[in-house]
Amino acid sequence: MRTPVIAGNWKMYLTPQQAFDLIDGLAPQVKDVKDVEMIVCPANPVLGMMAEKLSGTGIQMGGQNLYPKQEGAFTGENAPTMLKAVGCAYCVLGHSERRQYFNETDEFINEKVKAALEFDLIPIICCGETLEQREEGKTMNIVGTQINKAFEGVSAEDAATTIVAYEPIWAIGTGKTATPEMAQEVHADIRQILAKLYNSEIADKIRIQYGGSVKPENVDSLMAQPDIDGALVGGASLKADSFARLVNFKK
Ligand code: PEP
Repeated sequence: MRTPVIAGNWKMYLTPQQAFDLIDGLAPQVKDVKDVEMIVCPANPVLGMMAEKLSGTGIQMGGQNLYPKQEGAFTGENAPTMLKAVGCAYCVLGHSERRQYFNETDEFINEKVKAALEFDLIPIICCGETLEQREEGKTMNIVGTQINKAFEGVSAEDAATTIVAYEPIWAIGTGKTATPEMAQEVHADIRQILAKLYNSEIADKIRIQYGGSVKPENVDSLMAQPDIDGALVGGASLKADSFARLVNFKK
């Protein structure tokens, strides 16, 4: 059985005070959650202040990005070791906003995946197609390439610990969600790709989140799909009540 995992990608939102206020609102609403992993991914300057705040809440922390070196002269970047040191257990990698605005390639994302694993962070590996690519019937070519490349050189043992986030770009921050059936179809295909890369036992262990305008109104039907193991959430993770509702999705 795969443990569902709901992660909030706070992007470049929430100051330390706003993040603290959110946790004050969220923690009491999720205190009885036992069988769902909960993650928040604050902006880098906030990360270091969050570990203590999250302590005892059951909510874990992730980075939104990393630079694939242990240390060095890379102004403005953050090492996986640093994320780990301030309390991160996860790191979002290859988010479409990073691919789009910061020109991140599949090759670079693969380096980051390997660096995350080397330094004991669980990568949340994002993939997804544009609307144009979907309309041209290229969804699985694009997603397949992203997945194959992201896992290049990753051992089966490490792969089994990772999380994949399928995020159709046309659904991120737009209010448009893939229907549960559309998302399930891609998730099942991703699992097949992973089974080909490794084997079905490993593929069955890898959790695949859906991301793209997940909100309280659609979370239950998405989570009811057999290959949807969680959600990576932007907008709806920025309010305590809606994030709490996502974590408390109806089983
Ligand atoms: C995201 O940032 O990964 C995301 C899915 O955003 P939203 O939930 O706002 O669409």
